[in-house]
Amino acid sequence: MDTNQITPMGTNPETEKVAAIVENAGEDLLMFRCPGCKCGHAVPIRRANGNTDGLWSWNGSLTKPTLQPSIIVTYTPEPPKDRPARCHSWVTDGHIKFLGDSHHNLRDSSVPLPSMEN
Ligand SMILES: [Zn+2]
Repeated sequence: MDTNQITPMGTNPETEKVAAIVENAGEDLLMFRCPGCKCGHAVPIRRANGNTDGLWSWNGSLTKPTLQPSIIVTYTPEPPKDRPARCHSWVTDGHIKFLGDSHHNLRDSSVPLPSMEN
């Protein structure tokens, strides 16, 4: 059995937080920085009252978060000048994969989530 643990240079995936929990009106939201929209997205993951309707499932990690189901952010009727009209993504194991129906240039690609620590 190979017990070598090799971390690629320039990465520190176990300690770098790429998501944060913010509390809003009795809900805990998991927030992350979206490199496609260049702004934060947040989805509800739990509520003080125990109601689970419409919550995302979360794997409990702030360094390698996984969220299900996918996340669709839309701005209607007119998106702000610096935002795409639509962003559709899966967050899996600390990476964000943008689907082809996203309206920014990271559609159809998967990139690491940026750090929340700066
Ligand atoms: Zn986005």
